[in-house]
Amino acid sequence: MTENRGELPQYTIRDPHPAIVSREDWDAAQLIMNNRSDNRKGSKKRRHDRKEFFNIFHCSECGAPVIHVRSSKGGVHYWRCRTAEKKYLEETCEVRGFREISIEHTFMALLQEMKKDDGFKTEVKQAFEKLIPNETEQKKIKQVEEEMQQLHQKLYQAVEDGEVNGGDPAQIKGITDQIVALQNQLYDFEDQAQQSNQVQKDMDWFFEELEELQDFNPDKQRIEFRPDIFSKIVEKGTIHPDGRIVYDFKFGMQLTATGNETMAWRLKKKGKPRKKKKK
Ligand SMILES: [Zn+2]
Repeated sequence: MTENRGELPQYTIRDPHPAIVSREDWDAAQLIMNNRSDNRKGSKKRRHDRKEFFNIFHCSECGAPVIHVRSSKGGVHYWRCRTAEKKYLEETCEVRGFREISIEHTFMALLQEMKKDDGFKTEVKQAFEKLIPNETEQKKIKQVEEEMQQLHQKLYQAVEDGEVNGGDPAQIKGITDQIVALQNQLYDFEDQAQQSNQVQKDMDWFFEELEELQDFNPDKQRIEFRPDIFSKIVEKGTIHPDGRIVYDFKFGMQLTATGNETMAWRLKKKGKPRKKKKK
């Protein structure tokens, strides 16, 4: 047989103690502590950074990530192309920063457009169907499984032969490598299926939330931003110099949020409707 090149199981002790604090609790605790120290300095900073925006936005002009910045007095949150913000970099980019509150506002306005568009749900479902493994893929999976079975037999044969007349380590290794490669393909298929399953669930949830979204007039008022919806449906956003944001949604659709020229920070916030408690 071939020498052991790490095929034997390797034992590592993973997480011997159960997590004492959940990731969410930890993050929340960090936020509170950061805010405490901000408050002590007596600044008028808003309570938190919009962590849902991290690693989501990119600049349309130079492709750099869009990062969080504060106004010089620290009171206003902006998001700006990193190249444009960091002057010490060699490349330059001229795109200005956009207020966080505007990005939130145009996103909520976009949600409302989705809600009022009768064809929207159908479009989303059609876009999403392209993401689900189709018949060709199902066939491919079957093929891979059959191929694997044949290889297993081949391997068995090779090992048996080896016991009789010395065997060929290179051959055995070759077969094993092929099996591993096919196994990895199967794992990929499984991952995809699981992912589309999750997106399906998120989408159903999203449609329900959309139904209940409070109506508002984006030119005259704004409503509370919904970070939960944002995180569930947004894959990435490309920010253009004119403030347009082209969103790629997880359900395989692209839509553009406009209206960043509206001075969202001057709009009056519409009060929350009395909401029936769910679950
Ligand atoms: Zn840029």
